[in-house]
Amino acid sequence: MAEVIDGKNVAEDVVNKVKALTAELSAKGATRPGLAVVIVGEDPASQVYVASKSRTAKECGFHSVQHTLPAETTEGDLLKIIGDLNADPSVHGILVQLPLPGHIDAGKVIQTIAPEKDVDGFHFINVGKLGTGELETAFVPCTPAGSMLLIERVRGKDLSGLNAVVVGRSNIVGKPMANLLIAANCTVTVAHSRTKDLPALARTADILVAAVGRPEMVKGDWVKPGATVIDVGINRIPAPEKGEGKSRLVGDVAYAEAAKVAGAITPVPGGVGPMTIAMLMANTVASAYLAAGLKRPSF
Ligand code: NAP
Repeated sequence: MAEVIDGKNVAEDVVNKVKALTAELSAKGATRPGLAVVIVGEDPASQVYVASKSRTAKECGFHSVQHTLPAETTEGDLLKIIGDLNADPSVHGILVQLPLPGHIDAGKVIQTIAPEKDVDGFHFINVGKLGTGELETAFVPCTPAGSMLLIERVRGKDLSGLNAVVVGRSNIVGKPMANLLIAANCTVTVAHSRTKDLPALARTADILVAAVGRPEMVKGDWVKPGATVIDVGINRIPAPEKGEGKSRLVGDVAYAEAAKVAGAITPVPGGVGPMTIAMLMANTVASAYLAAGLKRPSF
Protein backbone atom coordinates (compact mmCIF):
# COMPACT_ATOMS: atom_id res chain seq x y z
CA MET A 1 0.00 0.00 0.00
CA ALA A 2 1.09 3.53 -0.77
CA GLU A 3 2.42 5.96 1.82
CA VAL A 4 -0.44 8.32 2.71
CA ILE A 5 0.69 11.94 2.38
CA ASP A 6 -0.78 13.71 5.41
CA GLY A 7 -1.68 17.21 4.21
CA LYS A 8 -3.11 18.18 7.59
CA ASN A 9 0.22 17.50 9.21
CA VAL A 10 2.25 19.39 6.59
CA ALA A 11 -0.23 22.30 6.69
CA GLU A 12 0.18 22.46 10.47
CA ASP A 13 3.99 22.63 10.03
CA VAL A 14 3.55 25.51 7.58
CA VAL A 15 1.21 27.42 9.93
CA ASN A 16 3.61 26.88 12.86
CA LYS A 17 6.45 28.26 10.75
CA VAL A 18 4.30 31.26 9.80
CA LYS A 19 3.60 31.91 13.52
CA ALA A 20 7.32 31.79 14.31
CA LEU A 21 8.16 34.11 11.39
CA THR A 22 5.46 36.55 12.53
CA ALA A 23 6.90 36.60 16.05
CA GLU A 24 10.43 37.13 14.62
CA LEU A 25 9.20 40.02 12.52
CA SER A 26 7.70 41.80 15.53
CA ALA A 27 10.86 41.06 17.56
CA LYS A 28 12.78 42.92 14.83
CA GLY A 29 10.46 45.87 15.42
CA ALA A 30 9.04 45.50 11.93
CA THR A 31 5.41 45.45 10.95
CA ARG A 32 2.88 42.75 11.80
CA PRO A 33 1.73 40.84 8.68
CA GLY A 34 -1.72 41.96 7.56
CA LEU A 35 -4.21 40.00 5.47
CA ALA A 36 -7.38 41.56 4.04
CA VAL A 37 -10.12 39.23 2.83
CA VAL A 38 -12.93 40.68 0.74
CA ILE A 39 -16.17 38.85 0.09
CA VAL A 40 -19.14 40.08 -1.94
CA GLY A 41 -22.53 38.39 -1.56
CA GLU A 42 -23.92 35.55 0.48
CA ASP A 43 -22.60 32.37 -1.21
CA PRO A 44 -22.57 29.90 1.73
CA ALA A 45 -19.46 27.96 0.60
CA SER A 46 -17.54 31.24 0.15
CA GLN A 47 -18.64 32.40 3.62
CA VAL A 48 -17.19 29.21 5.13
CA TYR A 49 -13.87 29.60 3.26
CA VAL A 50 -13.55 33.27 4.21
CA ALA A 51 -14.32 32.62 7.89
CA SER A 52 -11.68 29.90 7.94
CA LYS A 53 -9.07 32.14 6.23
CA SER A 54 -9.70 34.99 8.69
CA ARG A 55 -9.56 32.58 11.65
CA THR A 56 -6.23 31.10 10.53
CA ALA A 57 -4.84 34.59 9.92
CA LYS A 58 -5.64 35.53 13.53
CA GLU A 59 -4.12 32.26 14.77
CA CYS A 60 -0.93 33.18 12.93
CA GLY A 61 -0.81 36.51 14.80
CA PHE A 62 -1.69 38.57 11.70
CA HIS A 63 -3.56 41.82 11.58
CA SER A 64 -6.72 40.44 9.94
CA VAL A 65 -9.22 42.59 8.07
CA GLN A 66 -12.44 41.28 6.59
CA HIS A 67 -14.72 43.25 4.26
CA THR A 68 -18.10 41.56 3.94
CA LEU A 69 -19.99 43.42 1.23
CA PRO A 70 -23.60 43.04 0.06
CA ALA A 71 -24.29 41.27 -3.27
CA GLU A 72 -25.42 44.56 -4.85
CA THR A 73 -22.02 46.26 -4.26
CA THR A 74 -20.98 48.00 -7.49
CA GLU A 75 -17.75 47.21 -9.32
CA GLY A 76 -16.66 50.81 -8.72
CA ASP A 77 -17.14 50.52 -4.96
CA LEU A 78 -15.21 47.24 -4.86
CA LEU A 79 -12.34 48.73 -6.90
CA LYS A 80 -12.24 51.68 -4.50
CA ILE A 81 -11.89 49.33 -1.50
CA ILE A 82 -9.07 47.48 -3.26
CA GLY A 83 -7.36 50.76 -4.03
CA ASP A 84 -7.54 51.70 -0.34
CA LEU A 85 -6.13 48.30 0.72
CA ASN A 86 -3.33 48.66 -1.87
CA ALA A 87 -2.37 51.95 -0.20
CA ASP A 88 -2.67 50.67 3.39
CA PRO A 89 0.80 49.83 4.78
CA SER A 90 -0.70 47.56 7.47
CA VAL A 91 -2.04 45.20 4.77
CA HIS A 92 0.43 42.86 3.02
CA GLY A 93 -1.98 40.44 1.41
CA ILE A 94 -5.32 41.06 -0.33
CA LEU A 95 -7.62 38.21 -1.21
CA VAL A 96 -10.90 38.66 -3.05
CA GLN A 97 -13.03 35.57 -2.59
CA LEU A 98 -14.31 34.17 -5.91
CA PRO A 99 -16.83 33.82 -7.45
CA LEU A 100 -17.99 37.44 -7.55
CA PRO A 101 -21.57 38.38 -8.49
CA GLY A 102 -22.15 38.45 -12.28
CA HIS A 103 -22.29 42.26 -12.58
CA ILE A 104 -18.65 42.56 -11.40
CA ASP A 105 -15.74 41.82 -13.77
CA ALA A 106 -13.60 39.46 -11.65
CA GLY A 107 -10.63 39.79 -14.03
CA LYS A 108 -10.60 43.57 -13.65
CA VAL A 109 -10.84 43.28 -9.86
CA ILE A 110 -7.92 40.84 -9.64
CA GLN A 111 -5.73 42.95 -11.92
CA THR A 112 -6.42 45.95 -9.64
CA ILE A 113 -4.78 44.26 -6.65
CA ALA A 114 -1.19 45.49 -6.25
CA PRO A 115 1.02 42.57 -7.48
CA GLU A 116 3.13 42.74 -4.30
CA LYS A 117 -0.05 42.15 -2.22
CA ASP A 118 -1.56 39.55 -4.57
CA VAL A 119 -1.16 36.59 -2.21
CA ASP A 120 -3.52 34.47 -4.37
CA GLY A 121 -1.00 34.75 -7.22
CA PHE A 122 -3.59 35.53 -9.90
CA HIS A 123 -2.26 38.93 -11.08
CA PHE A 124 -0.63 38.79 -14.53
CA ILE A 125 2.66 40.01 -13.02
CA ASN A 126 2.77 37.00 -10.68
CA VAL A 127 1.60 34.62 -13.40
CA GLY A 128 4.39 35.96 -15.61
CA LYS A 129 7.00 35.65 -12.87
CA LEU A 130 6.05 32.02 -12.25
CA GLY A 131 6.07 31.33 -16.00
CA THR A 132 9.55 32.80 -16.36
CA GLY A 133 10.92 31.08 -13.25
CA GLU A 134 11.20 34.29 -11.13
CA LEU A 135 10.22 32.34 -8.05
CA GLU A 136 12.13 34.56 -5.59
CA THR A 137 9.56 37.34 -5.92
CA ALA A 138 6.51 35.60 -7.44
CA PHE A 139 3.38 34.86 -5.47
CA VAL A 140 2.30 31.39 -6.52
CA PRO A 141 -1.37 30.31 -6.32
CA CYS A 142 -1.92 28.57 -3.00
CA THR A 143 -3.27 25.16 -4.09
CA PRO A 144 -0.45 24.28 -6.51
CA ALA A 145 2.13 25.79 -4.12
CA GLY A 146 0.77 23.50 -1.38
CA SER A 147 0.70 20.50 -3.71
CA MET A 148 4.34 21.16 -4.52
CA LEU A 149 5.29 21.10 -0.83
CA LEU A 150 3.59 17.71 -0.52
CA ILE A 151 5.53 16.41 -3.54
CA GLU A 152 8.78 17.71 -2.01
CA ARG A 153 8.05 15.82 1.21
CA VAL A 154 8.13 12.58 -0.79
CA ARG A 155 10.58 13.32 -3.61
CA GLY A 156 12.77 16.19 -2.38
CA LYS A 157 13.18 19.59 -4.01
CA ASP A 158 15.01 18.51 -7.17
CA LEU A 159 12.82 16.39 -9.41
CA SER A 160 15.43 15.94 -12.18
CA GLY A 161 14.74 12.98 -14.41
CA LEU A 162 11.16 12.47 -13.28
CA ASN A 163 8.13 12.58 -15.58
CA ALA A 164 5.10 14.48 -14.33
CA VAL A 165 1.61 14.47 -15.80
CA VAL A 166 -0.78 17.20 -14.68
CA VAL A 167 -4.40 16.47 -15.58
CA GLY A 168 -6.20 19.82 -15.85
CA ARG A 169 -5.08 23.13 -17.35
CA SER A 170 -6.90 25.72 -15.25
CA ASN A 171 -5.21 29.01 -14.40
CA ILE A 172 -5.76 28.33 -10.70
CA VAL A 173 -4.31 24.82 -10.47
CA GLY A 174 -3.16 22.99 -13.62
CA LYS A 175 -1.02 25.64 -15.34
CA PRO A 176 0.76 26.97 -12.22
CA MET A 177 1.32 23.36 -11.08
CA ALA A 178 2.98 22.56 -14.40
CA ASN A 179 5.23 25.64 -14.10
CA LEU A 180 6.29 24.70 -10.58
CA LEU A 181 7.17 21.18 -11.72
CA ILE A 182 9.19 22.56 -14.65
CA ALA A 183 11.03 24.85 -12.23
CA ALA A 184 11.88 21.74 -10.17
CA ASN A 185 13.40 20.09 -13.30
CA CYS A 186 10.59 17.64 -14.02
CA THR A 187 9.60 16.72 -17.54
CA VAL A 188 5.99 17.83 -17.63
CA THR A 189 2.96 16.96 -19.74
CA VAL A 190 -0.31 18.84 -19.22
CA ALA A 191 -3.44 16.88 -20.10
CA HIS A 192 -7.02 18.15 -20.46
CA SER A 193 -10.39 17.21 -21.85
CA ARG A 194 -9.05 16.93 -25.43
CA THR A 195 -6.12 14.66 -24.55
CA LYS A 196 -6.10 11.28 -26.34
CA ASP A 197 -5.63 8.06 -24.37
CA LEU A 198 -5.25 9.72 -20.99
CA PRO A 199 -4.85 6.39 -19.11
CA ALA A 200 -1.74 5.51 -21.17
CA LEU A 201 -0.29 9.00 -20.69
CA ALA A 202 -1.00 8.92 -16.95
CA ARG A 203 0.88 5.59 -16.69
CA THR A 204 4.09 7.36 -17.80
CA ALA A 205 3.97 9.65 -14.74
CA ASP A 206 6.33 9.37 -11.80
CA ILE A 207 4.31 12.28 -10.41
CA LEU A 208 0.63 12.35 -11.31
CA VAL A 209 -1.43 15.41 -10.37
CA ALA A 210 -5.20 15.28 -10.89
CA ALA A 211 -7.00 18.65 -10.95
CA VAL A 212 -10.09 17.92 -12.97
CA GLY A 213 -13.25 18.13 -10.87
CA ARG A 214 -14.54 14.65 -11.88
CA PRO A 215 -15.15 12.22 -9.01
CA GLU A 216 -12.72 9.27 -9.01
CA MET A 217 -11.91 9.62 -12.71
CA VAL A 218 -8.28 8.46 -12.36
CA LYS A 219 -8.40 4.68 -11.90
CA GLY A 220 -5.87 2.38 -10.27
CA ASP A 221 -4.67 1.04 -13.63
CA TRP A 222 -3.83 4.61 -14.77
CA VAL A 223 -1.14 4.80 -12.07
CA LYS A 224 2.49 3.79 -12.65
CA PRO A 225 3.69 1.50 -9.85
CA GLY A 226 5.49 3.60 -7.24
CA ALA A 227 4.19 6.94 -8.57
CA THR A 228 3.47 9.94 -6.35
CA VAL A 229 -0.22 10.78 -6.79
CA ILE A 230 -1.52 14.22 -5.83
CA ASP A 231 -5.29 14.48 -5.86
CA VAL A 232 -6.43 18.11 -5.99
CA GLY A 233 -10.07 17.31 -6.72
CA ILE A 234 -12.82 17.97 -4.19
CA ASN A 235 -16.13 16.47 -5.27
CA ARG A 236 -19.25 15.92 -3.20
CA ILE A 237 -21.10 12.75 -4.19
CA PRO A 238 -24.26 11.11 -2.82
CA ALA A 239 -23.61 8.57 -0.03
CA PRO A 240 -26.88 6.70 0.51
CA GLU A 241 -24.95 4.16 2.65
CA LYS A 242 -24.62 6.95 5.27
CA GLY A 243 -28.37 7.59 5.26
CA GLU A 244 -30.93 9.26 3.05
CA GLY A 245 -29.78 12.53 1.48
CA LYS A 246 -26.22 12.15 2.87
CA SER A 247 -23.09 12.89 0.87
CA ARG A 248 -19.32 12.46 1.10
CA LEU A 249 -16.21 14.06 -0.37
CA VAL A 250 -14.07 12.25 -2.93
CA GLY A 251 -11.17 13.35 -5.07
CA ASP A 252 -10.50 13.00 -8.78
CA VAL A 253 -8.62 9.75 -8.08
CA ALA A 254 -10.24 6.40 -7.23
CA TYR A 255 -8.30 6.31 -3.96
CA ALA A 256 -8.72 2.69 -2.86
CA GLU A 257 -7.54 1.33 -6.25
CA ALA A 258 -4.78 3.89 -6.77
CA ALA A 259 -3.35 3.43 -3.26
CA LYS A 260 -2.59 -0.22 -4.11
CA VAL A 261 -0.29 0.85 -6.97
CA ALA A 262 1.11 4.28 -6.04
CA GLY A 263 4.22 4.82 -3.93
CA ALA A 264 2.61 7.78 -2.14
CA ILE A 265 -0.83 9.36 -2.43
CA THR A 266 -2.84 12.24 -0.95
CA PRO A 267 -6.22 11.36 0.57
CA VAL A 268 -9.40 13.42 0.11
CA PRO A 269 -10.17 15.01 2.50
CA GLY A 270 -6.92 15.62 4.40
CA GLY A 271 -4.46 15.88 1.50
CA VAL A 272 -4.16 18.97 -0.68
CA GLY A 273 -7.21 20.69 0.89
CA PRO A 274 -5.60 21.85 4.16
CA MET A 275 -2.53 23.11 2.28
CA THR A 276 -4.39 25.88 0.46
CA ILE A 277 -5.11 28.08 3.49
CA ALA A 278 -1.68 27.32 4.98
CA MET A 279 0.01 28.58 1.79
CA LEU A 280 -2.12 31.73 1.85
CA MET A 281 -0.62 32.44 5.28
CA ALA A 282 2.86 31.59 3.95
CA ASN A 283 2.43 34.02 1.03
CA THR A 284 1.20 36.78 3.38
CA VAL A 285 4.10 36.46 5.81
CA ALA A 286 6.48 36.40 2.81
CA SER A 287 4.88 39.61 1.53
CA ALA A 288 5.40 41.26 4.95
CA TYR A 289 9.09 40.21 4.94
CA LEU A 290 9.59 41.63 1.45
CA ALA A 291 7.79 44.88 2.43
CA ALA A 292 10.14 45.20 5.43
CA GLY A 293 13.15 44.82 3.09
CA LEU A 294 14.02 41.41 4.58
CA LYS A 295 14.91 38.15 2.81
CA ARG A 296 11.88 36.18 1.76
CA PRO A 297 11.39 33.12 4.00
CA SER A 298 11.11 29.77 2.24
CA PHE A 299 8.78 26.91 3.09
P1 NAP B 1 -11.49 23.70 -13.73
O1 NAP B 1 -11.16 25.13 -13.89
O2 NAP B 1 -12.89 23.24 -13.96
O3 NAP B 1 -10.52 22.86 -14.69
C1 NAP B 1 -10.69 21.49 -14.88
C2 NAP B 1 -9.69 20.98 -15.86
O4 NAP B 1 -9.92 19.58 -16.04
C3 NAP B 1 -9.82 21.61 -17.26
O5 NAP B 1 -8.55 21.92 -17.77
C4 NAP B 1 -10.50 20.53 -18.10
O6 NAP B 1 -10.09 20.48 -19.45
C5 NAP B 1 -9.98 19.26 -17.42
N1 NAP B 1 -10.90 18.15 -17.66
C6 NAP B 1 -12.24 18.13 -17.51
N2 NAP B 1 -12.74 16.92 -17.84
C7 NAP B 1 -11.67 16.17 -18.23
C8 NAP B 1 -11.54 14.84 -18.69
N3 NAP B 1 -12.58 14.03 -18.85
N4 NAP B 1 -10.30 14.41 -19.00
C9 NAP B 1 -9.23 15.21 -18.86
N5 NAP B 1 -9.30 16.48 -18.41
C10 NAP B 1 -10.50 16.95 -18.11
O7 NAP B 1 -11.12 23.18 -12.28
P2 NAP B 1 -10.00 23.67 -11.22
O8 NAP B 1 -10.38 24.98 -10.65
O9 NAP B 1 -8.64 23.49 -11.79
O10 NAP B 1 -10.23 22.58 -10.07
C11 NAP B 1 -10.03 21.19 -10.31
C12 NAP B 1 -10.46 20.41 -9.09
O11 NAP B 1 -9.69 20.81 -7.98
C13 NAP B 1 -11.92 20.62 -8.67
O12 NAP B 1 -12.40 19.40 -8.12
C14 NAP B 1 -11.82 21.65 -7.58
O13 NAP B 1 -12.88 21.56 -6.64
C15 NAP B 1 -10.52 21.25 -6.93
N6 NAP B 1 -9.83 22.35 -6.24
C16 NAP B 1 -9.37 22.09 -4.99
C17 NAP B 1 -8.68 23.05 -4.29
C18 NAP B 1 -8.15 22.71 -2.93
O14 NAP B 1 -7.99 23.58 -2.09
N7 NAP B 1 -7.82 21.46 -2.69
C19 NAP B 1 -8.48 24.32 -4.84
C20 NAP B 1 -8.91 24.56 -6.14
C21 NAP B 1 -9.59 23.56 -6.84
P3 NAP B 1 -10.43 21.65 -20.51
O15 NAP B 1 -9.49 22.76 -20.18
O16 NAP B 1 -10.16 21.01 -21.82
O17 NAP B 1 -11.87 22.00 -20.28
